[in-house]
Amino acid sequence: MNSSTAAPSSPRFELEPPPLGAWRKGNTGLEGVWRFEAPKPGREVLVTALVHGNELCGAWALYEALEAGVRPRAGALTLAFCNLAAFDRFDPENTDRSRFVDQDFNRLWGAMPWRCEGVVPNREQRRVLELQGVVERADWMLDLHSMHAEGPPLGLTGLMPHHAAQAASWGAPGILVADAGHAAGTRMRDHGRFGRTDDEQAVALLVECGWHGAASSRTVALDVLHRYLVASECAHAADLPGHWRQADAAQAPQRLQVTHAVTVQLGQPPSFAERYTTGQMIAQAGTVIGHDGAAPVSTPYDDCVLVMPSLAHATPGATMVRLARAV
Ligand SMILES: [Zn+2]
Repeated sequence: MNSSTAAPSSPRFELEPPPLGAWRKGNTGLEGVWRFEAPKPGREVLVTALVHGNELCGAWALYEALEAGVRPRAGALTLAFCNLAAFDRFDPENTDRSRFVDQDFNRLWGAMPWRCEGVVPNREQRRVLELQGVVERADWMLDLHSMHAEGPPLGLTGLMPHHAAQAASWGAPGILVADAGHAAGTRMRDHGRFGRTDDEQAVALLVECGWHGAASSRTVALDVLHRYLVASECAHAADLPGHWRQADAAQAPQRLQVTHAVTVQLGQPPSFAERYTTGQMIAQAGTVIGHDGAAPVSTPYDDCVLVMPSLAHATPGATMVRLARAV
């Protein structure tokens, strides 16, 4: 996902694309999709990366898992590089360009209203159709992303409390955000049973590991992957490279509830009053934090927390900022 007003002086993009090489192929007949089965029954555990082609930390995490030969103790483990077509366009000088090719892959899930007879699907739509069965087969899903601006790692848990409770028990990342997603379309993490209140066996967490270019985003991705594989009973800690795991935080994860998603309106391009960052709290209700289609955007209550303020892909209908309260 993405964040921020235009960065005044962008830090150096530290992460290089992982050398996928032979790992690009997959072993399932679907490019970039690897599946390993254990002799013992157990959960269908899925880890996804490159939902956005410029979000390299998750691709590194899958690459490391493949290099390390991680295999499930029970059930099955599936590792999926999702949008390879976008990843192939990665350009360190213009990293936003490789977020997607035709359309944001992470707004095409759920009921898929774009599926119409006689309409030829675009690049991302075709890939969604390829991966639909992979996602629908999963009991647990970890979806690794990074953000357009620097900020603390976030776990996006969706609205059902059981996702958040499970993520909180893993101890990372440090901030968990309950939100309904985007007006522009359903995210993969909310697809099918992952969006249902009555299916507590299905657990999905989308993690924003930090800024796209930060080496620390890869550290976060590997730490979360380690915790997830152990919590899902896919692996024991001893099966996994020890350096993946970081120390536990001193405090339990902070929980935020998104109350408003401000979407970009037609008309005047949106703007922010200053350079806000994720996690920033605005004390006074009624503070004008920016403008959207010429109308002011103000905070609706005291101690309003901003989540991923972003003008990076600010076309009408896209999410400009989410407003949240501490739970
Ligand atoms: Zn993303």
